[in-house]
Amino acid sequence: METERSRHFIEQAIDNDLAEGVYDHVHTRFPPEPNGYLHIGHAKSILLNYGMAKEYGGKFNLRFDDTNPTKEKSEFVESIKEDVAWLGADWEDRLFFASDYFDEMYEVAVRLIKNGKAYVSDLSADEMRDYRGTLTEPGKNDPNRDRSVEENLDLFEKMKAGVFADGEKTLRAKIDMASPNINMRDPIIYRVAHMSHQNTGDKWCIYPMYDFAHPIEDAIEGITHSLCTLEFEDHRPLYDWVVKEAGYPEPPRQIEFSKLYLTNVVTGKRYIKKLVEEGIVDGWDDPRLVSIAALRRRGFTPESIRKFVELAGISKSQSSADYAMLEYCIREDLKIDSPRMMAVLDPVRLVIDNYPEGQTEMLTAPNNLENPELGERQIPFGRELYIEREDFMEDPPKKYYRLFPGNEVRLMYAYFVRCTGFEKDENGNIAVIHCTYDPLTKSGGPDPGRKVKGTIHWVDAASAGQACVRLYENIIDEEKGVYNEDGSLNLNPDSLTVRTAFVEPALMKAKAFDRFQFVRNGFFCADYKDSVENAPVFNRIVTLKSSFKLPVQGSV
Ligand code: ATP
Ligand code: MG
Repeated sequence: METERSRHFIEQAIDNDLAEGVYDHVHTRFPPEPNGYLHIGHAKSILLNYGMAKEYGGKFNLRFDDTNPTKEKSEFVESIKEDVAWLGADWEDRLFFASDYFDEMYEVAVRLIKNGKAYVSDLSADEMRDYRGTLTEPGKNDPNRDRSVEENLDLFEKMKAGVFADGEKTLRAKIDMASPNINMRDPIIYRVAHMSHQNTGDKWCIYPMYDFAHPIEDAIEGITHSLCTLEFEDHRPLYDWVVKEAGYPEPPRQIEFSKLYLTNVVTGKRYIKKLVEEGIVDGWDDPRLVSIAALRRRGFTPESIRKFVELAGISKSQSSADYAMLEYCIREDLKIDSPRMMAVLDPVRLVIDNYPEGQTEMLTAPNNLENPELGERQIPFGRELYIEREDFMEDPPKKYYRLFPGNEVRLMYAYFVRCTGFEKDENGNIAVIHCTYDPLTKSGGPDPGRKVKGTIHWVDAASAGQACVRLYENIIDEEKGVYNEDGSLNLNPDSLTVRTAFVEPALMKAKAFDRFQFVRNGFFCADYKDSVENAPVFNRIVTLKSSFKLPVQGSV
């Protein structure tokens, strides 16, 4: 795969920079704001930044962009570290916090003031907006724009000392109020905010703005290529202005790429926060979400996410990747490596009337027909079994090859059975199916001399375990609308189905994160939070059916 694809535009840009001697190495970073859990979109940024460092023999930093004290929590710092590590992006000993650079950022601001490149403004937020102009009209100069350096230094010092209330003063970069790029119209670089910070406590009551802080963070760490998403494209002139005016000798270069969006799935922190806070989902890692923690809990593997991000590709054009492509990637990853076991999710009893009562025999089953390395196991078989309710029909349509009165099928890894009758309960539902077996048709034995068209799975009733199984659907379909008319979230009532399944005994020993194919029912993973010893809870990662076709290179 790696060798087939052509080099994307970021690789080409880095190749050029190295060839022209702009940089002699590559150093990238992933800079999350610790204000929520990471989602599948962030995986793209993580894997791209890490991937570029690896590809060019360079370094990769994990840096928390914790310059905004209101929304940030240490719970998020921990979860982000876990997610980045799980994806395989190894930051080694390069874990940083932007808040550790507050002193240096302050010094840069003082330097800008001294160089006549920044000034303290008295404008309120509303006034600031009026002065800013529009896309078609230039802005107006701030009345405080020509304050003396001494006065600015004094006022900035007082901002830092806590003399002013929130919003009373700001520090602005002195660039150009007539710039066609609104970001360059004397942007605010420091604001007063009397708030405690989770890292620096009450040391500061002024905090740097993102557009000022981010380039300085990159420059301090010696980042060469600062890869970020497209919405920052219009901010790049300001990024370049800050690193230049701050006087860093080897300024980093910002390159933008398009975000990864998933069709039909909500990824925005805003929605996910709402679902979590309103208790609609079981936390940020509820398996119905597409946070990385949720995908991990559901049973996705890092390999499947890496493959997905790779298939989605790196470009500058906005597009969405289909959720079905993510499902394709996990199926591909699990189909060979996971054992195929039998579990009956919607059970009905099957009695083999000519099988000796009280007898149990052990049958041999391959763990994965396509992968002999996974070996074999023994499954108990007896007179009473459970099969899927949908594998029997009283009155079948044409081309139904499973059980119906008079028909013969193979019980997987076992014998041929022929249906001889059935019983119904008082509600008219099938309660028991009767059949007889042919001892000469044992799987792996001599050719029985006749064929059957259907094979069905089963579990032995006497030895089966009972396990909780959770089936998922999309919780919100963005295409159907995130909100109802009354403003409430448009939730899919079937997003979670909980079943008690009968499973073969081996499955009762499943450990957290063990993954299996349940024959015909899909791929499942033992939930790490809710499983307890000898009572696993299985999350369905994905069904077996797929309508997804691997796209031709470059078309996603
Ligand atoms: P959200 O939009 O979900 O709130 P965010 O952009 O605010 O996310 P940050 O913590 O600021 O979250 O993001 C860290 C990095 O991840 C940034 O460089 C950002 O550009 C990148 N990123 C965020 N969303 C995506 C996405 N959907 N695809 C690719 N990269 C993304
Ligand atoms: Mg952000």
